[in-house]
Amino acid sequence: MIQITTPLNFLGSMYRDIRQALVDMDEMFHLLEQPAEVTDRPGAKPLEVLGGEIVFDRVEFGYDPERPILKGLSFRVAPGQRVAVVGSSGAGKSTIGRLLFRFYDVTGGAIRIDGQDIREVTQESLHARIGVVPQDTVLFNDTVGYNIAYGRDSATQAEIEAAAKAAHIHDFIMRLPQGYQTQVGERGLKLSGGEKQRVGIARTLLKDPPILILDEATSALDTATEADIQEELHDMGQGRSVIVIAHRLSTIADADRIVVLEDGRLIEEGTHDALLARGGRYAELWSRQTREEEMAA
Ligand code: ATP
Repeated sequence: MIQITTPLNFLGSMYRDIRQALVDMDEMFHLLEQPAEVTDRPGAKPLEVLGGEIVFDRVEFGYDPERPILKGLSFRVAPGQRVAVVGSSGAGKSTIGRLLFRFYDVTGGAIRIDGQDIREVTQESLHARIGVVPQDTVLFNDTVGYNIAYGRDSATQAEIEAAAKAAHIHDFIMRLPQGYQTQVGERGLKLSGGEKQRVGIARTLLKDPPILILDEATSALDTATEADIQEELHDMGQGRSVIVIAHRLSTIADADRIVVLEDGRLIEEGTHDALLARGGRYAELWSRQTREEEMAA
């Protein structure tokens, strides 16, 4: 009996693990919209990040060959700089993040990190060095602790708690019925938009990547929560190279540089003040948004 049930139990738990892993992968792929065609080149080496310089060099890309989205886009993020990408809806801002993470390969030009073409390095090393805080953090059907540690199996409880404290979610978690062991996600406790964002921030802090992509939340958070989260995202960016995909302009006025996209090309770049003084597209987007915000208030 023992000889039969033991392997069956073992298989049962293995089956559960595999199934959970597939569920996670599925959610991850859904989250990242990763197609299967991007693979490591033979002999690909690990990415070596020194300062974290990011260069988009005449990048061309379209999801569909008939419809180009980026048409020779060039810009540079110097090590430790915070660069915001703005432009009207559908201009290709989020696409920039997806290309840097190599969910898709560029069809022309190149993206380089510290001089290395990202097509030449292993995806594992690329993904390990880039943190993404997406618009909407997807929670896995597991404990809140697991959700924070996601992607870093070696994290200790002390490290998880330190990340949660920095993301200002630790006190909230401690008030939950089972603390870090509380089940969250679709089948567990539903977290609010702001709480989910904080789990996403804690997850990224724990990963501690030298490069960050912040795809700003478009979902409405209340003003106070939003201001707090902006501050936490800002703090997290210190000492890292950051690309902020900005869907609204109010949050990126203090970026080191703002890149304005239109029709797949860079049409302006500079600081907020310089771009306002220029009186071009950015100034137009800014005054339109300020008017809209005033009307909504
Ligand atoms: P927004 O500010 O509205 O989020 P965005 O500037 O971030 O817009 P992207 O998400 O980069 O825009 O999309 C650029 C264009 O590419 C859009 O026209 C969009 O419809 C198209 N697009 C985005 N994702 C895909 C996809 N997976 N397959 C096909 N087309 C896509």
